[in-house]
This record gives sequence, C-alpha cells and structure tokens, in this order.
Amino acid sequence: MKQYTVLTLFPDMILQAFSHSILARAQKEGHIHIDAVDIRAFSKNKQKHIDDYPYGGGAGMVMQAQPIYDAYQSIPHEKKGRFIYLSPQGKTFTQKIAQELSKESNIVFLCGHYEGVDERVLEELCAEELSIGDFVLTGGEIAAIAVIDAVARLVPNVLGKEESFQEESFSYGLLEYPQYTRPPVFMGRAVPDVLLSGHHANIEKWRKEQSILRTKQKRPDLLK
Ligand code: SAM
Repeated sequence: MKQYTVLTLFPDMILQAFSHSILARAQKEGHIHIDAVDIRAFSKNKQKHIDDYPYGGGAGMVMQAQPIYDAYQSIPHEKKGRFIYLSPQGKTFTQKIAQELSKESNIVFLCGHYEGVDERVLEELCAEELSIGDFVLTGGEIAAIAVIDAVARLVPNVLGKEESFQEESFSYGLLEYPQYTRPPVFMGRAVPDVLLSGHHANIEKWRKEQSILRTKQKRPDLLK
C-alpha cells in the first residue's frame, strides 16, 4: 500500500477531494492511503497562529518553521519518505515525475499559504520542490491534490481494467487519439467508420495516426 501524508492548514480540503470515485475506492481496497495533518494543531501560541510578518518587511505573512517541523515529526516513522513542498518555484510536475513517484511507498507533501513558508524548515527537512505550473495559487492544497491524483492512479490495481492508463496522453510521448461512445451519430456527426468495423489492426493503425496528428496540431513541442 502507498501512503500519502499531507501537511496542511486545511485537512478537510484534502480528505474531501479523495472521498469520491476511483481514489476513494482505491483507499477502501487498501491500495493507497491518504492522511492529512493539520499544521495549526502544532502551533504553540494561544491564538493558534502559525504565521508571522516577514523579516525584512514586505507584504503578506510567512508560515513559521516550528509548527511545520512539529507536524512533520508527528508522522510515524514508517509513513515518512520523500518530502515534497508544493511551490511555484519547484520543478514542473510532469507525467514522467508522476510515474517515478508512483513507485514510492511513502510521500509527505507540504502545502504552503500566504507568502510561503520559512525557508529554514525546507532546508532542515531536505524538501524537494514541485510546481504544477507557472502560475501562483493561494495555497498548496490544490497542487497537492493534483499531484496525488496523478501519482495514485498509476499505482498498480488503482485503476480498473476499464480505466487503463496504458495508452493515455503522455504515456508514449504522444497525446491520446480521439475517443467516441454511443450513439453512432450525434448532431449529424458520425463516429469514424473504422471504429465500427471491428477490424482491430485497422483500429490500432488509425489510433496511432490520430495520436501523431493531434500531437502535431495541439502540442508540437512534444514531438521534438
Ligand atoms: N510568495 C510565493 C512565491 O512568490 O514564490 C508564492 C506563495 S503562494 C501565494 C502560497 C502557496 O501556494 C505556496 O507556498 C505553495 O505551497 C502554493 N502554490 C502556489 N502556486 C503553486 C504552484 N504553481 N505549484 C505548486 N504550489 C503552488
């Protein structure tokens, strides 16, 4: 079983996101387990503050090192593993990184807020940084949810046969071919004849051609 633990100020956001559909089933079946640890519970002050003004001045607040460090230390040893801080400054997350992370048994994710987190806790815990793209979110939760979703669905037995990822976009460096389902004609648009032919070799050939064509049209950068 793969264990994903998320250090966050909003544990409900994380748990709620994984309480539906395929990843909820994967948890019930014991293929993955997702925990959320509330960083605020480790605040040492009465008001339960976890942030403070930035040294050197400037706008916004910074999450303090101590509650994050203590939240990390509260994780049982056997659930600790790679430690990833979701950050717009990190390496950009890709399907290749998702494949690599899907082999890890334990991953701990840290979600920042406000102006981010005190740099020293990242150094102390040897954080790797991952970004989900060149834009800035208000917090790391949406990024953690996106990364865990992409990673967990690659864990063996998480997807059923009917939800295979083998031919998906990026798996072979190409985008996936177009998909169709019933009815055979919708608003005068017919499903390509070859898909109704039952001729498996021709279907496979058509799909391969379509994959290359759409990659050329939509993401020519992938072909390089
Ligand atoms: N001041 C920071 C900077 O300029 O690099 C941005 C902080 S951002 C408003 C708050 C938090 O959202 C970050 O600590 C991080 O956890 C998360 N976050 C924002 N954008 C992200 C992205 N593109 N990928 C991953 N996490 C992101």
